[in-house]
Amino acid sequence: MYDLVLRGGRVLDPSSGLDGELDVAIEHGVIGRIAAGIAPAEATRTIDVSGKLVTPGLIDVHAHVFEGVNRTGVNPDLGGVYSGVTTIVDAGSSGAATFGGFPQYVIPNCATEVIPFLHICQTGLATNPDIIAESSINLDDTVKVATAHKGLIVGIKARMVSPALEIMGMEMPRLARRAAREAGIKLMVHIGDTAKRYDPKIIHPLLSMLEPGDILTHYFTPNPGGVLDANGKLVPEAREAAGRGVWFDTAHGRMNFSFDVGRRIIDQGLLPHCISTDLTVPGRLNTVHSMTEMMTRFLGLGFTLPQVVTMCTENPAKAIGVEHRLGKLAAGRQADVSVLEMHQGDWTVYDILGAGLRVDRAFTPHLTVKRGRVFTPDFGPRPWGWLPDRALPAGRIAGGCC
Ligand SMILES: [Zn+2]
Repeated sequence: MYDLVLRGGRVLDPSSGLDGELDVAIEHGVIGRIAAGIAPAEATRTIDVSGKLVTPGLIDVHAHVFEGVNRTGVNPDLGGVYSGVTTIVDAGSSGAATFGGFPQYVIPNCATEVIPFLHICQTGLATNPDIIAESSINLDDTVKVATAHKGLIVGIKARMVSPALEIMGMEMPRLARRAAREAGIKLMVHIGDTAKRYDPKIIHPLLSMLEPGDILTHYFTPNPGGVLDANGKLVPEAREAAGRGVWFDTAHGRMNFSFDVGRRIIDQGLLPHCISTDLTVPGRLNTVHSMTEMMTRFLGLGFTLPQVVTMCTENPAKAIGVEHRLGKLAAGRQADVSVLEMHQGDWTVYDILGAGLRVDRAFTPHLTVKRGRVFTPDFGPRPWGWLPDRALPAGRIAGGCC
């Protein structure tokens, strides 16, 4: 007897080769069977999801959920299971000095799986700016904490921003690289300098430093230090990095996502692997609200539905090295499932520059299953709901920051 059957949805999982009207049966938090016509009598509970899209649990590979410690940290379940997302990668909200809060206070208190990166700055993103002196980095402590929590912490995070680069130059990402290597984990690097103060050519040595399995995040950034040169051409190191297995993530956030930059990059053939939110409390009030909204944006940019699903399931699972248990629908796997609704209409979605993109299809979350537990969407503190039609362009909400 199954605990739950999701009946009659369009099951779409390119990684399993699934695309069709199928039922998903779940037992003890694990997927028992995926097949057509599973009898209701075989399950304690059946939920009719006909007309809905059933995908592997969505993975947001860059968000900030150090709630209660960092002012900008979103509640993990608000960005997670209540938004159609089963796993959130915290992209370096904590550093060696603050990380303890994750396993002690955050992770035990949410249903969403949280997989953290450790910031090379020892206080993480508790303050802004993060790195304010060379002493903001404690390499030994960083390696110690990353090693002590191996299996939980999957990588080190570095942010190519001012004033860190003015104070330390390339020594900053080099130390992050070293910490990652010594702890035996990967590196995630943020590009895009919103202060516009350092030499954008720094992208060349940075990309050369990235190793297979590392993640470059915000690569649709319109800010200096991105992957396009002054003439709008993709720097050669970007293609080389992609060729050797570096993951490219678009992370929207408050300041680092432009449709125009994205289109230029896509036109030159460097397609994104992952399309994360970079969700924060102030970002959620203005520029980016959910993973389903990111899916809407990428469908609007011309990606196919299977491509969009892959970019928020299979690819992020691989990018963080958890593809053996997440990002795929198959019997015997952890029952992480997202049920989404696709709407037809006419909306405009905006990038961080306020540039609009007309879309005629939009995703909203319908139901989330995490380890077999069912969650229904809850947008939380925002008045206009999931669909993009009433969202205001970036910058239109005065004083939007928390
Ligand atoms: Zn971020």
